[in-house]
Parts: sequence; structure tokens; C-alpha cells
Amino acid sequence: MTPRHDALAELLLAIENAAAAAGRPRATRLLAVSKTRTPSEVAALADAGQVAFGENYVQEALPKIDALRGRGLEWHLIGHLQSNKAKDAALAFDWVQSVDRPRLLAALARHRPAEAPPLDVLIQVNIDDEASKHGCTPMDVDALADAVAAEPRLRLRGLMAIPAPHEDPARRRAAFRAMARLFADLQDRHPGIDTLSMGMSEDFAEAIAEGATMVRIGSALFGPRPSKHEESTA
Ligand SMILES: *Cc1c(COP(=O)(O)O)cnc(C)c1O
Repeated sequence: MTPRHDALAELLLAIENAAAAAGRPRATRLLAVSKTRTPSEVAALADAGQVAFGENYVQEALPKIDALRGRGLEWHLIGHLQSNKAKDAALAFDWVQSVDRPRLLAALARHRPAEAPPLDVLIQVNIDDEASKHGCTPMDVDALADAVAAEPRLRLRGLMAIPAPHEDPARRRAAFRAMARLFADLQDRHPGIDTLSMGMSEDFAEAIAEGATMVRIGSALFGPRPSKHEESTA
């Protein structure tokens, strides 16, 4: 096995173990976060069987998506989406996880090609990070979710969060738990949703224990990044 195959197999096992330990037999999906990585690094992981990849910047992602076309990969936008990039995002990505305001919806829907499946959408919630400008408030979730569900070219799949990286594990767990409660409430309103995206390299086991169905992992798969940008602008 190549080093990439090893890292992927090890991580998939750790995810499976975390789910089993939490009594959550349902498989947790792995999103490989490929920001700052080259197309050939992505290709190596794709060769090892990884399908879903996450990018923060539309501009950085477009040439990578192009270079890897035809491999059946699934691309998720996880960085903040500026309105003037909504068209490019709707054309190139399969999922947008960072929808946090109504303004984006019409543009995403309008530019989603008729021949493509509806764009999968997660609503990003600012669950505990007061310093962050991104993500809607928990109070805004219902209205935004209803607006996504009303657009035939968009498909509401669930919620995403980037909790603040608290030192105190109890505070991290509390944020994940608050997201799980929001998700359960939203499921009552929209029974078709299936995705709660939370947890990164440092805290994915805690996120899974609280109910994450998708974890977004970069450095634990690809190695450390030169500079850390946890939440950035697309
Ligand atoms: C970079 C990033 C990740 C992955 O972070 P790692 O610590 O490298 O696993 C996950 N989600 C978002 C939104 C990110 O920007």
C-alpha cells in the first residue's frame, strides 16, 4: 500500500470505531478536505477509493475539479461563499455546505444546469463562534431550510457547523450536542434530510459521538498544511 492508502484505511477504521463506540452503527461519511492540495495528491487518494472531496475556495477548486473530471468524484464547497461566486459554485460543485443566507439561494438555483441533478445543500450554522461572521444563527435555520426546500434545483440535505476549537472538551462536546438537537428538530420539519456535517482532524471522534453523519478531514489524511485556515472565503 502507498502511504496515502495507509492514511485513508487508518482513518476509515478510526471513524468506524468511533461510531461503534458511540453505538451509532450507521456509517459516517468521510469528506476529504483537499484545500491547498494538488490534483495529483487528490488523485492518489481517489485511487485509494475516496470519492468525496471538500474545497474552501471556488477559485482554487475549479481547475482541480476540471483536472479530475471523469473520475466520478463528488465535490463539496465548505468555505464561505460570496454571492458573486454562486454561479461558479452551482456549475462546478455537487454540494454546497456553506449556505448561510437567503440571498445565495436564487443564484445557486438559477445557475444549476438543467441536466445536472439538484445541488445538494447544507445550511451552515454559527453554533458557538461569536467571532465568526459566517453561518446563520440557530434561530434562522427553519426559515432558511424552508427556502432551500422550496427551490426545485436545490436539495436540502441537512446542517454543517465549524464549532470554535475550544481547549475544553466539554465545551466542544456542548457545541456538537447543540447541533445534533438542531438537526433532530429540522428532521421533524424536513424528514428527508440525512446529513449533519461536523468534526475535523482534531475532534472527529467527539463529533461522531454526538451524532455527526459526515466528518470533514484534511490534515489527518494529507499531512499538515503549511498555514492553517479553518474557515475561509470562497
Ligand atoms: C480545513 C477545514 C477542514 C479540515 O480541517 P483539518 O483540521 O485539516 O482536518 C474541515 N472543515 C472546514 C470548513 C475547513 O475549512
